[in-house]
Amino acid sequence: MGERPVVGRFAPSPSGRMHLGNLLCALVAWLSARSAGGRMVLRIEDLDTARCPRAYARQLEEDLRWFGLDWEEGGEQGGPHGPYFQSQRTAFYEEAFSHLAQQDRIYPCFCTRAELHAASAPHASDGLAPYSGRCRSLTREQAEAMAAKRRPAWRIQAPARRIAFTDGHYGPYAAQLDRDCGDFILRRSDGVYAYQLAVCADDGAMGVTQVVRGRDLLAYTPQQIWLLEELGYPPPQYYHIPLLTAPDGRRLSKRDGDLDVGALQKRYGRPEPVVGLLGHWCGLLDRPEPAAARELVGLFSWEKLPQKDILLPENFGRE
Ligand code: GLU
Repeated sequence: MGERPVVGRFAPSPSGRMHLGNLLCALVAWLSARSAGGRMVLRIEDLDTARCPRAYARQLEEDLRWFGLDWEEGGEQGGPHGPYFQSQRTAFYEEAFSHLAQQDRIYPCFCTRAELHAASAPHASDGLAPYSGRCRSLTREQAEAMAAKRRPAWRIQAPARRIAFTDGHYGPYAAQLDRDCGDFILRRSDGVYAYQLAVCADDGAMGVTQVVRGRDLLAYTPQQIWLLEELGYPPPQYYHIPLLTAPDGRRLSKRDGDLDVGALQKRYGRPEPVVGLLGHWCGLLDRPEPAAARELVGLFSWEKLPQKDILLPENFGRE
C-alpha cells in the first residue's frame, strides 16, 4: 500500500436510478481517491444486460456529474483500459476463464437454483452458503452426458487456503476459502460471466489500487483476493463502508424511489444539500450544511467515518 499511485473506481450496476445509498458509496470512493491525489475510473457493471439497459448507464453518468463527481477514464468517455462497460468485455473474461481453466480447478455444475436453495444452510458468520461441492465429483462421462441435456454453470474449486487481509475501514478480516466461501461460479449456465470473475479481471486489468464499496461485499473479498492472485494481479486495498439503511434497519434498494436521484433533485434542486447530509453522516461535517463534493476532499479521513450502518432519520424523504 502507498507505493502505487492511487487508482480508485466507481463500479455501479445501472439496474435503475441511483439512490442515496449509491451516492454515499460513490462519494466516499471519490473522496478517498481524491484526498490521496488519486485517479478515478468509472466501470459500468452491466453484465446482466436485460436488467441494465444503456439508458440507465447514461442517466447514471449524468447523475454522478450532477452530484459533483468526476473521473479520468471510463463510461462513455472511454480511456486506455476500455471498454468500460462489462457487457462489452466478454473477451477479457474469456481469457481470464481459460487461464484459470488451465489449473484443473474448474468444473461444470448442473445444480439448479432450486437444488442449491434446498441444500444451502445458513452460514455461521456472514450469510453466505458455501456450495456443497456436489458436481465436483462427477466423472467426465457423467458430466458429458448431463451437458448434452442442459448447459452447465462453471465453478472454480476453492483451495484449502486462509486469506487474511486488513480492510482499510473495518480492520483485519480472514477466511478459509474452501470452508467459508466454497466453490464459486465463474460462468453462469446462460453463458454470462459471473460478477466474481468479472470484477477481478477488471480491477486487475484497469490497475485499480483502491476498492471502496458497501460492507455487504466484505465477505466476498477473500475469494477476490485469491482470484486476483491467480490472474497475476496484486490485490487493491479494500475499504468497506457502512450501509445506509431505512429507519427500520432495512437496506435501501432501488425500489425506494423516493430516495433516488430524481426525487432528490426535485426536493433539493441542487446537489449541495445532499452532499452536505452525506458529509455529515460520514462525520466530515459537524452539521448537515450544504457543501460541494470538492469541498469535502480536504476534510476526508477514514477515521471520521462510522463503522456502524447509517440509519436514515424517520420519515426521511417523505416529509
Ligand atoms: N457492481 C456492484 C454493485 O453495484 C459493486 C461491485 C464492487 O464494488 O465490487 O453493487
